[in-house]
Amino acid sequence: MNTRTGQLYIVSAPSGAGKSSLLNALRERVDHLAVSVSHTTRQPRPGEQDGIHYHFTPVDVFRQQVADGNFLEYAQVFDNYYGTSRLSVDALRETGKDVILEIDWQGAQQVRECADVTSIFILPPSIAALSERLHGRGQDSAETIQRRMRDAQTDMSHYPEYDYLIINNDFETALAQLACIFQSERLKLTSQIQQHQALLTDLVG
Ligand code: 5GP
Repeated sequence: MNTRTGQLYIVSAPSGAGKSSLLNALRERVDHLAVSVSHTTRQPRPGEQDGIHYHFTPVDVFRQQVADGNFLEYAQVFDNYYGTSRLSVDALRETGKDVILEIDWQGAQQVRECADVTSIFILPPSIAALSERLHGRGQDSAETIQRRMRDAQTDMSHYPEYDYLIINNDFETALAQLACIFQSERLKLTSQIQQHQALLTDLVG
């Protein structure tokens, strides 16, 4: 019987590093993986759906959830609040799925304090590529893009706090590297013991 509880992962990156596209592709390549849907007080962007991309939450409701201790972590990023529901992460992990938190460095610091977690930071290959990707979105104003460039540099300064570092120069290479991290974490002894208890008992008692 597989009694394995899913592992917890954090993936952080500055906006424009290609994190969301990489994680979408990763889910198709690696089994038993779930990406936690965060709560946010920001407005949905065109094409974003409530409950799929985020749980879009009014500020007063978000503050109440903070007061009730519902969040595993939360942070203010740009002008909005973002948080991860403790209950939904626990429920996903209990199904045996590994859970990815797509959160910023502030949230990552909070989660490391209270949970066993593997953290991955994704960097763009250059400042020019970052700027190009932020302009390429076409959804934000020039002022917002300039501010995000500055914020991206602050975000990126936190890469030394992470276990793994990926430079997203070539999409397929970065994707293969990400998949490799998940596979090797699952091959660690403690994880293998949880997955193969019956076999190990048969083999060595
Ligand atoms: P965006 O608004 O562009 O989707 O996300 C902005 C930033 O908020 C990204 O760096 C993203 O990783 C971060 N973020 C998204 N959800 C959460 C969350 O639940 N907690 C924290 N701490 N950061 C989050």
